Amino acid sequence: MLEAKNITKRFGGLVALNNVTLTVRKGELLGLIGPNGSGKTTMFNVITGYYRPEGGRVYYNGQDITGLRPHKIVKMGIARTFQIPKPFGRLTVVENVMSAAMYGREEVPSRGEAKEIAMEWLEYVRLKDKVNVEAKSLNIVERKLMELARAFSTDPRLLLLDELVAGLNPSEMMEVVELVRRLVDEKGITTVMVEHVMKAVMTISDRVFVLHRGTKLAEGKPEEIARDPKVVEAYILETGRIALHGEAKKLLGMEEVKKAYLGI
Ligand code: ADP
Ligand code: MG
Repeated sequence: MLEAKNITKRFGGLVALNNVTLTVRKGELLGLIGPNGSGKTTMFNVITGYYRPEGGRVYYNGQDITGLRPHKIVKMGIARTFQIPKPFGRLTVVENVMSAAMYGREEVPSRGEAKEIAMEWLEYVRLKDKVNVEAKSLNIVERKLMELARAFSTDPRLLLLDELVAGLNPSEMMEVVELVRRLVDEKGITTVMVEHVMKAVMTISDRVFVLHRGTKLAEGKPEEIARDPKVVEAYILETGRIALHGEAKKLLGMEEVKKAYLGI
């Protein structure tokens, strides 16, 4: 469905993505993981037209979309959420979602239609009670759910979620992650989920792609990725958690490390 082929993206001297090929298959939930700074958000920005890559092309259903503007790409059916949500704080929740419906759909709906679409998705993400409050009064979980409703209301065929569960506590995290899985299954929307919290992605993804310092480190089924020593090493070392618990790594074997740090 999507192929980002041989993508290279530089920021000055820094190579954020170095010849990375990422393929997304129709109907799957692909987990895109990697330590902070590994290039995950940059990949989303390249796919959605926020950045133009120095090398490589992006194909969506066989069509070359490299360098198209973000508003064109969203209308073609690729929606995204932002790592740092930027809601219109003084608009109400339903108005925020309506604005996404009006901006992001190929056929621009009337205000009334946009409201219907927004209400449907707000009910789906269980924010119906909050539709008329100002977005800025939402708590962090509710903001994430509103982001999700905004993305869905653009009628996506491909959904890119950037650290949707970052900042949530473990039970909130699982709640949102399970909601995403349910939406993918029920609505059949192909989804790429970026997280640096490995556990969240491991439990729900069909396939996992690991970025590390701008290159592909591994790709495979969650079980394979979890067993891959180079992933576990790179991941744990880079996240710095081992820096805090350096002694722990000496004491524990890989199995224990995985259990203790990754919950798998
Ligand atoms: P991730 O989302 O995996 O944490 P990013 O894709 O945000 O990583 O960043 C990858 C690298 O590119 C980082 O070193 C980051 O500092 C750098 N980077 C990202 N965006 C920019 C930008 N707009 N300008 C300069 N450097 C950037
Ligand atoms: Mg990021």
